[in-house]
Amino acid sequence: MVADSQPGHIDQIKQTNAGVVYRLIDTHGPVSRIDLSRLAQLAPASITKIVREMIEAHLVQETEIQDPGSRGRPAVGLMLETEAWHYLSVRISRGEISLGLHDLSSKLIVEDAVSLSVEDTQPLIERIIAQIDQFFIRHQQKLERLTAIAITMPGIIDTKRGIVHRMPFYDVCDMPLGEILENYTGVPVYVQHDISAWTMAEGLFGASKGARDVIQVVIDDNVGAGVITDGRLLHAGSSSLVEIGHTQVDPYGKRCYCGNNGCLETIASIDSVLELAQLRMSQSMGSMLHEQPLTVESLCDAALNGDLLAKDIILGVGTNVGRILAIMVNLFHPQKILIGSPLNRAAEILHPAITDCIRQQSLPAYSEHMIVESTQYNHRGTMAGAALVKDAMYNGSLLIRLLQG
Ligand SMILES: [Zn+2]
Repeated sequence: MVADSQPGHIDQIKQTNAGVVYRLIDTHGPVSRIDLSRLAQLAPASITKIVREMIEAHLVQETEIQDPGSRGRPAVGLMLETEAWHYLSVRISRGEISLGLHDLSSKLIVEDAVSLSVEDTQPLIERIIAQIDQFFIRHQQKLERLTAIAITMPGIIDTKRGIVHRMPFYDVCDMPLGEILENYTGVPVYVQHDISAWTMAEGLFGASKGARDVIQVVIDDNVGAGVITDGRLLHAGSSSLVEIGHTQVDPYGKRCYCGNNGCLETIASIDSVLELAQLRMSQSMGSMLHEQPLTVESLCDAALNGDLLAKDIILGVGTNVGRILAIMVNLFHPQKILIGSPLNRAAEILHPAITDCIRQQSLPAYSEHMIVESTQYNHRGTMAGAALVKDAMYNGSLLIRLLQG
């Protein structure tokens, strides 16, 4: 928190203070100006000025608050005004683009998932713009003032400059996505790696809300992790990720696209898991897996119904992921480990396998109170992007643009 008397970068201080006040109103509202002044450690005159600007911009509104014990006149409380401001959150995954219109409370107004072929030779940037245009045409009746666009995707991404250097599945080379979309739409654009953004979303709205130290593991088309340490996302604002997917678990294992052999991703990604199941089915003719087409769902259901092969495959994923997590637990001492995966359908098999492995292989004092559970959101939705917009309001960068109109 920055004191309002401090000299120096006035604009930066104004932005930081506005962000702090906005966050406090969001988390404590309805809240009185006096309480706000105390919570923000800002002078009452500063609070009055910041709040006046937010009310004029329709970002904050006044409401009556009645203290339960008092018989006096109700006090004036402040709360956010969120319905008149919308933003678009876009998620790109293998073969699909999801577009969600949210209001500033993060509430979803409407969401579409549309096919985005990995084989199409038209440049990806053109196809993204076309999908955004069509989304706004389809839903123009519902659209209020557009404040921002957030986009999340897998790949190697320079989040500060909004450049997507490389993506899995799509042919992309140094795509200046942020700049092109900002010029095209005139609103700020936030670009972030999907697993990092999803980790932020769980921390702001989901299963790790309120936790200071969290490891979130995603086991899906790709395998990766996000780490929140002391309330902050590790590597936020850089192109780095917590690359557990490319840590070797089998020195004699399959070749990985990263150049090494036997990476966790070559063993635990959904494609690899299904490939292994297919291979082992030929040696296990009695398995229930022969009864229907092999999918993540049928694998999980067979395991839940006691099929030994299906169970063994999911336990294997748990052990391999757990081994890497045990090292991470010793590094970060998390309160919580979140698993984001379609394999959570068989969470009652997968999670204990992960927990057991961590408990056997990490410092007991670090793992005894740790909780392993499912993420609240799934891989496909647009809540990950919602976290980027919320973060930009809280750090003041987007807020200040909205205040300036
Ligand atoms: Zn690799």
